Amino acid sequence: APQHRPTQYQFKLVLLGESAVGKSSLVLRFVKDKFDEYKESTIGAAFLTKTLTLESEDKVKFEIWDTAGQERYKSLAPMYYRNANCAIVVYDITQAASFQRAQTWIEELKKQAESDILILLAGNKMDLEDRRTVSSVEGSTFAAKNGLLFSETSAKDATNTFTMFQNLAIKLAETR
Ligand code: GDP
Repeated sequence: APQHRPTQYQFKLVLLGESAVGKSSLVLRFVKDKFDEYKESTIGAAFLTKTLTLESEDKVKFEIWDTAGQERYKSLAPMYYRNANCAIVVYDITQAASFQRAQTWIEELKKQAESDILILLAGNKMDLEDRRTVSSVEGSTFAAKNGLLFSETSAKDATNTFTMFQNLAIKLAETR
């Protein structure tokens, strides 16, 4: 039988969401399997790569763009999400306003980004269950209505973090 030659995919991934929802913490957990409780909000550390090997032996390399604090300004430079293949839009399950903000980012992406961009909505800080103000159903319902992938995560205790990125990689490899 002819040998299957693994495909090497490369995707540009951007992270969006209100300041302090945990965007860079999710990236740090995924790329280095670390968490920093006292880290300052992102300054500068804007670009990281990570390669995953799928069960099919195909490789998916993510070029990850973190906003480097730009989300504090009114609008994000379009170069940030230009040519992005996928976006993770993050909110904090304890901050309802960050969920509203995530919905605004998603509208902006749908208007400004590539039409085939794959968007994943992530409700982070699920370790803070006792302070939750956005229910899982609210998150998943919004995602389903808008054709988005959905995860709830904790960068702190690593719940669903790898799975989220892996599911994104599988979906991208399937459709690209
Ligand atoms: P960013 O501004 O969206 O990149 O957010 P950061 O990654 O800088 O995180 C903001 C704050 O939230 C930091 O103090 C993090 O330690 C904390 N944080 C991030 N993710 C989690 C999480 O999953 N659970 C908890 N409890 N705290 C988190």
